[in-house]
Amino acid sequence: MPPWRGVIREFREFLPPTEEESIVTLLEGGTPLIRSVRLRDWINREIELYLKYEGCNPTGSFKDRGMTLAVSQALREGITAVICASTGNTSASASAYAARAGLRAFVLIPEGQIALGKLSQAIMHGAEVLQVQGNFDEALAIVKEVARGYPVALVNSINPYRLEGQQTAAFEICDQLGDAPTYQSLPVGNAGNITAYWKGYRRYREAGRTSGLPILLGFQAEGAAPIVRGHVVEHPETVATAIRIGNPASWQQAVAARDESGGVIDMVSDDQILEAYQLIAGLEGIFCEPASASSVAGVIKLNKAGRFRRGDRIVCTLTGNGLKDLDCALRVSRRPATISPTTEAVLKHLRF
Ligand SMILES: *Cc1c(COP(=O)(O)O)cnc(C)c1O
Repeated sequence: MPPWRGVIREFREFLPPTEEESIVTLLEGGTPLIRSVRLRDWINREIELYLKYEGCNPTGSFKDRGMTLAVSQALREGITAVICASTGNTSASASAYAARAGLRAFVLIPEGQIALGKLSQAIMHGAEVLQVQGNFDEALAIVKEVARGYPVALVNSINPYRLEGQQTAAFEICDQLGDAPTYQSLPVGNAGNITAYWKGYRRYREAGRTSGLPILLGFQAEGAAPIVRGHVVEHPETVATAIRIGNPASWQQAVAARDESGGVIDMVSDDQILEAYQLIAGLEGIFCEPASASSVAGVIKLNKAGRFRRGDRIVCTLTGNGLKDLDCALRVSRRPATISPTTEAVLKHLRF
């Protein structure tokens, strides 16, 4: 097989045209679709469960799939700076792709609410990072206004190129499975990704690459569940900082995608998210970030309600890498024991 060339070159026929010389890529995409056995057995032995591990992207989240298109387009238009509001991963991705393209990056993050790994990425890639004394929704409103008045490309998911690029995860899943799955489960924050997946699945179906469409399952955190509750959440709260959003930009599109697919957008508690987070790591050897685990937490919840049938193929997308948020991992884990440097002390702990 030829080496992977990044999503723009791999899926050229399904994406807006980009000239070779303006392609900005870190060879994103091509992430593994891992068949789950131990976690599947823990949930329900009659289903098929797959984990699409987006933490394997160059900056550790699916945001790279859209950022390669958004930054390539900015370069093509001769724009020399990009700006975004971010709960973390958008800023990490925008900063990396801007660095690669030689563009300036401005990043607005909610103060104290972003995982340190993500903040470190933006700083290392040379972005100008501003901590806003407010939440994500307020930061997004500001960057929208700035982008309207100044020569800077807005690279949040309201940028249409972002969603175009993010469709490619759905293409890959269909290629990897040989057809569309029965269910596709995703975390929902700003609701761009679930919108993009639906676009991608439909586009592949129209091109005759699959025989059908999946049912979409989207999961918000209980403390940040505007779509489930049917109203804006002024002060969103959840351990899953990547989906700590009270007024999703792609709200209407996500609801339309849910309804067209015959699916649901539901919510899961922080306890359910953290349980799934630990199960994925402990039973499958995959370290994802807390927000990502909501896709699995939601499947566990719906399974208990009797939703699934024998042979259903369920894909849960694990949107980001667990290494980004080590504070959370250490909070939920047992600390290692400290022992004297002797074989006896070690043997005492091994308990054979
Ligand atoms: C951005 C992000 C999400 C949410 O995606 P939306 O498109 O905003 O719904 C979920 N998980 C991770 C890790 C993210 O970075």
